[in-house]
Amino acid sequence: MTGERAKRFPLGLEDLVREPRRSEARSGDARAAKATLADGRAASGTAGTSAMAGAAGAAKGSGGRSNGSSGGGSGASAGARAVANGKRNDPARQPALRLPATLERAGAPNVALNRAHALTSERVRERMVERLRANGVSDPRVLNAMATVPRHMFIDPGLATQAYEDAALPIGHHQTISKPSVVARMIELAAAGRELNSVLEIGTGCGYQAAVLSQLARDVYSIERVRPLYERAKTNLRPLRIPNIRLHYGDGRIGLPAAAPFDAIVIAAAGLDVPQALLEQLAIGARLVAPVGTQDGQTQVLTLVERTGPAQWRESRLDRVFFVPLKSGVI
Ligand code: SAH
Repeated sequence: MTGERAKRFPLGLEDLVREPRRSEARSGDARAAKATLADGRAASGTAGTSAMAGAAGAAKGSGGRSNGSSGGGSGASAGARAVANGKRNDPARQPALRLPATLERAGAPNVALNRAHALTSERVRERMVERLRANGVSDPRVLNAMATVPRHMFIDPGLATQAYEDAALPIGHHQTISKPSVVARMIELAAAGRELNSVLEIGTGCGYQAAVLSQLARDVYSIERVRPLYERAKTNLRPLRIPNIRLHYGDGRIGLPAAAPFDAIVIAAAGLDVPQALLEQLAIGARLVAPVGTQDGQTQVLTLVERTGPAQWRESRLDRVFFVPLKSGVI
């Protein structure tokens, strides 16, 4: 975050130092979080930056997918919810968003005012989470992550008052930050109550969804094809000091073979198919969630693909959605 933006959003900075929630409040908690920040990955790993060779031709999605069952959304999503209800991750495993002490001090000139703003912002986020819950998101890890990540820090300051509305907002370069409800839904579907080690996101955009994913998964890799957005995401994520996100600049249709296999892949842009390279980078039993458009370009359907065997994938077509296009190459 630049100094300018920090000045305009003191609440954003203060906001990162959340009071422990009822169930999390423990004296050892702060020490654990500090240990996370102090370890080697924290220092160098924030929004890791290895660049990919991007411009190579996109993998063609044809053939390999089988058993494309398209049995309507409710069955698959109800199944995912049932699993999600059953199991909760060990909170100690989850990276906590904490603000480095130096930034805390920088936001201190009017502590009382900042504190008030922080609470407002947290309350606004809690209300957003209540709406998500009312709309069927039930995985507590997803709800916690949505309550933790300050969405207003990922958008233009001029739009910050809309940060916690359920709306996609422009982030420049003809792209948008996805709606909170869509982010939560996709992550819940991708996780399906499982512990996630390694997750790949295609379409970093401003970095928000990667930040949410970082609260559930051990390692998050995210690829963006528009260089200024890749840079913007790095800038947005830097003050959050999230140790387990690796950003890559490149064509996400190729995926990230070096880091595969993934427990989950989330694609934040709509193609006409799911690239075969990404299907191949799923672990057996892993899930991919992506908007897939129809040939006429009129509709997109949120699609869940589960890899059921070495050469077997099962596809379920779920909600109608609207995403920016998944494009080939880099710019
Ligand atoms: N994940 C974002 C959503 C960003 S919008 C969020 O948190 O809200 C989708 C992004 O996908 C855009 O930034 C777009 O540039 C990017 N994109 C489209 N095609 C891509 C591709 N082939 N590889 C990587 N990124 C791509």
